[in-house]
Amino acid sequence: MLRNDSKGFAKVSQALSRIGMMSNFSPAPRFSSQRREGSSLLPTCTMDTPGTRELRPRFGAGDRPPSSPFTRILELGAGPRHLELCLRAWLRGEGLGQAAAHRAYPLPAALRRALPGLERDLASILRLRREVPGTRGTARLVFETRRGGILESVLLPREAVCVSVQAGCAVGCLFCKTGEDGFEASLDALEICAQVVHARRRRRVRRVVMMGMGEPLHNLGAVLEALRLLGGPGGFPHKQLTVSTVGSPALFDRCLREPVRPSIALSLHSTYEEKRAFLLPHAPRIPIPELLDRAFDYARRTGWPLQCQWTLLAGWNDGPDEMARLAAHCEGEKVCVNLIPQNPAEGLPFEAPPEGRALECLEILRRRGVFTTLRRSAGTEVSAACGQLRARLRP
Ligand code: SF4
Repeated sequence: MLRNDSKGFAKVSQALSRIGMMSNFSPAPRFSSQRREGSSLLPTCTMDTPGTRELRPRFGAGDRPPSSPFTRILELGAGPRHLELCLRAWLRGEGLGQAAAHRAYPLPAALRRALPGLERDLASILRLRREVPGTRGTARLVFETRRGGILESVLLPREAVCVSVQAGCAVGCLFCKTGEDGFEASLDALEICAQVVHARRRRRVRRVVMMGMGEPLHNLGAVLEALRLLGGPGGFPHKQLTVSTVGSPALFDRCLREPVRPSIALSLHSTYEEKRAFLLPHAPRIPIPELLDRAFDYARRTGWPLQCQWTLLAGWNDGPDEMARLAAHCEGEKVCVNLIPQNPAEGLPFEAPPEGRALECLEILRRRGVFTTLRRSAGTEVSAACGQLRARLRP
């Protein structure tokens, strides 16, 4: 799981499954540059669905990260319970010293001696490059991975944190700064979790939303692994873990088989097939009614309402026709539509509609009985849309 070879993966996952964590943990992966769902710590990623372009990471095969501190913990004589204590301490932002303080399961002496070095290794998973505080408790954090990938996280109001699952993104949404800059590399599970650890060291975190850079569908193995860690030793209620995706039946099927089932935020943005395909050029081509049916089915089975993400783009998807069609899809379903006025972003050709127009959209949906919110991007005041800070830091 946490090491860049199948032996390390098997070792940690077996240790955790013995104590009932990660019961459905994937078997040791076959590492290849192609399909790799269930693998971890690989710098490359694959597309799990047809209709999307090949990913071409900027990092070469020689840039793989060093072995995980957690496989080293096992090599230092730790049993499954010790491993769980260490994972728990790290994921909750407490530091490994907390694991050492546990009386019922004293850590082996060799492991105790190695703790300072392991702490340093864990701290080096992500290097903070920049922090821009905003209002209402928000802050934008820019990190660099050990392989040189740059990514962003956002501390959101109401004790939430928004994390990235990739450096860059291959979907290429026309209204997104990250999409404009393209794909750089996929993050591994520890790099995804390390963003939460950084947030927890700053303040209390009750909710994690994977809505930052990247498409979870394109990095599904690492995303599911991170969810198991966050919903297991990380202690987050599963409903408080949200994955934002352009969606595919494969993703819903896979999440239903997982021990940690996240809530889903589906990036819809249009009810017209051609317009959606234009705005999200490399999203899987799935008929919208089928995509929504699968998403509503997932919501019914998990009990977590579907969040339907709709970036309001003036003149594109803010008309009464779109709202009426969206309402027709959503009526009677377990869904919350989030209307998000477009963030201003240098170089992007879209604008948010005037406030009055956005309120009309809200009204149309609410009159049809669809639970709807109109959001103001919490990141606006900390340098606007996702990807802008990263773009400025790139050489
Ligand atoms: S909106 Fe999301 S899926 Fe689309 S390009 Fe940006 S990060 Fe990728």
